[in-house]
Order: sequence, then structure tokens, then C-alpha cells
Amino acid sequence: MRALFIGRFQPYHLGHHEVVKRILEEVDELIIGIGSAQESHSLENPFTAGERVLMISKAIEELGAKSRVYIIPLEDIYRNSLWVSHVCSMVPKFDVVYTSNPLVYRLFKEAGFKVLKTTMINRTEYHGTEIRRKMLEGDEWKKYVPKVVAEVIEEIGGIERIKEIAGRDF
Ligand code: ATP
Ligand code: MG
Repeated sequence: MRALFIGRFQPYHLGHHEVVKRILEEVDELIIGIGSAQESHSLENPFTAGERVLMISKAIEELGAKSRVYIIPLEDIYRNSLWVSHVCSMVPKFDVVYTSNPLVYRLFKEAGFKVLKTTMINRTEYHGTEIRRKMLEGDEWKKYVPKVVAEVIEEIGGIERIKEIAGRDF
């Protein structure tokens, strides 16, 4: 059985990681779709698709599950009625979709897929928007992401990037 889980992963945090671990206990293979793949260098989407691939693949490697996981970047098509077909054209065949996003749930259900709801884990702290705010404001952020993800973010100068793009014109 192969499952699909989609997010923007800006960044990939411990909430996502726990969901992925739980899905991997239930299925043989998992496709992780990286949404809004074309976006980067903005406050809402600071990291490129490639940087997000790196974060996720290093975290999955630590789980010893690399051979069971496919990480696929997915660009936006800005047309919800066609989005499921777009996703299907980009990823291997899957039997079930896991999501906690109501729109993703609705779109895959309408298209006839089996969709299972995931539970939120410590959402107040494991929340991309909140983690990006902490990065920008100089608060502690590393404890909310897998250690290898923090290493990738530091290696690419991610915090400097966020602070710089939040700045005004010179
Ligand atoms: P943002 O605030 O940027 O939207 P996010 O934390 O919601 O960040 P997404 O990439 O949007 O991260 O999430 C991908 C999927 O993971 C979504 O379906 C989202 O609901 C789910 N998710 C996000 N945070 C958690 C969490 N703490 N526990 C379980 N699922 C989560
Ligand atoms: Mg979200």
C-alpha cells in the first residue's frame, strides 16, 4: 500500500515528522509531495523546493526509511478543480491520501480517493508560520524541527535570508 502526504514544509518540522512516522507504521510506501514548489525567498515560503527536499530526505534517512519514501516537488497550478489531476500526473500511483487540510481532503474525496485525516500534534509549537516568525524575530526555533533540518537551514544561511528579505529597500 502506498500513501500520499502533501505540505509546503516551510520548514519541515517535528509535527510533520511525527505524522510521517505514524503513516509509515501503517503503509509500505509514502509519497511526500512538496507543495508550492515554485515558491522561495519570501516570508511565507523562504526555502526552495530543493532545500525542502534536502531537509525532508535527511530527516527520513534518520528514520531508516529512505527506500520507502518518494519526495516529489509540486508546483501550484492555481486551479483547484484540476489540482488532483495535476498531482496525479507528477507522483507515483497511490492508494490513500493522508491530510489534515480541509481543502486537500475535499478535493481528493471528490476525485474518488480514499482520504484519511491525520491528527494535529502540539500545533501551538509545531506550526510553520510560528516557527518562521521565531526565525525572523531571533527566538529559539531549532527545538521545533528535526536536528538535521536545523543543520540544513544553518548551512544555507536560512535565518539570514529570512531577516534580509523582511528588510526595507536600502
Ligand atoms: P504553515 O503555517 O506555513 O501553513 P504548517 O505547519 O501548517 O505551516 P504545512 O506545510 O502547511 O505546515 O503542513 C503540511 C500538512 O501538515 C498540513 O496538512 C498540515 O495541517 C499538517 N501539519 C502541520 N503542522 C502539523 C502538526 N503540528 N501536527 C500534525 N500535522 C501538522
Ligand atoms: Mg499549513
